[in-house]
Amino acid sequence: MKRISILGSTGSIGTQTLEVVEKLGEDFNVVALAAGSDHLKLADQVRRYKPELAVLKDNKAADILAAEIYNEECLVEAGSEGLLKAATWPSADIIVLAQSGAGGFETLIAALKNDKVVALSNKESLVIGGETIERMGLLDRDRIYPLDSEHSAIWQCIGSLSGKGVEKIYLTASGGPFLGWTREKMKNVTPEMALKHPNWKMGRKITIDSSTLMNKGLEVIEARWLFNLPLDKIEVVVHPQSIVHSMVEFVDGSIIAQLGEPQMHLPIHYALTYPDRVNGNYERFNPIDRKLNFLAPDYENFPCLGLAYSAGKSGGSMPAVLNASNEEAVDYFLNGKIGFMEIPVLIEKTMNSHKIVQHPGVSDIIEADRWARQEAGRLAVEIKRGR
Ligand code: MN
Repeated sequence: MKRISILGSTGSIGTQTLEVVEKLGEDFNVVALAAGSDHLKLADQVRRYKPELAVLKDNKAADILAAEIYNEECLVEAGSEGLLKAATWPSADIIVLAQSGAGGFETLIAALKNDKVVALSNKESLVIGGETIERMGLLDRDRIYPLDSEHSAIWQCIGSLSGKGVEKIYLTASGGPFLGWTREKMKNVTPEMALKHPNWKMGRKITIDSSTLMNKGLEVIEARWLFNLPLDKIEVVVHPQSIVHSMVEFVDGSIIAQLGEPQMHLPIHYALTYPDRVNGNYERFNPIDRKLNFLAPDYENFPCLGLAYSAGKSGGSMPAVLNASNEEAVDYFLNGKIGFMEIPVLIEKTMNSHKIVQHPGVSDIIEADRWARQEAGRLAVEIKRGR
């Protein structure tokens, strides 16, 4: 029996995780569910999966949830403390961290401190805090199971997370909806256009990140911490079909790739059933007559990718600034405050005005995140004025 706690249960990865758990059957049990504010969806999930704990970050929404499920034997908690409870719930064996954004940092630390196995979907936590978590002695690579499809692929190719004998990683990127477009052409991209990803169905924030290639940039830094490899051994390759989920080149020159149709159920299924291979009934890739191609990424027209490598190389508090300014920029773009090509401009300006804190502790990361959001807000106004 594996007992699972899911943070971000009403989101895209959270709901797909529950589908996988349901298909896996009675050996899997949901003991805690946590989300942001969607009390209707969480109430449905509580009735269906009967967890011991249900958490909503939003206090008012948590009150409504408690009233909605008063006849269920389920403890309702609220706020950041509630999320930490879900991340450390005593009866849980596996914590699925599927929240979106920087909030995953503190829940990841809490789960690791409590010796939990973490199935990690929240890449921001490692991007902003990988260095800090490693220095705290908490980056136990045997207990962090990646859910991100590329990192799951690398994990499956390597066989463990130690990185021994690995020459380099080819991290594949679909290229997003604007593959082959110039900066000039992308100036008029609307949120609606950017929210249509050709291969993957995902949440809004990550879909915008995929269209700017920032998602791949964040994944490069995520891979650096998950697999203990320097950034120059992690190479991005554009693969528009999203069938090869990543490749690992070993020191003897052999390259191993992991393939599958672009869907998240398989990486989720693999993490939940690891180290076993358990029957999975998901759409399978049939290689007959399928064409796969690979291209170099376009750093010139997609500056976010280069900004991420640069933040990763700077290290210290800079990746937290990259991530926070990106989260703000995406939000401004979705709300019509800045243009699509102003996303990388805003991130770069915020990074340029940051004084790096080397060897950051947890509070330095939280402070860099707060500072970057404020600075990005100020710079966004400046950008609009300067148009
Ligand atoms: Mn991914």
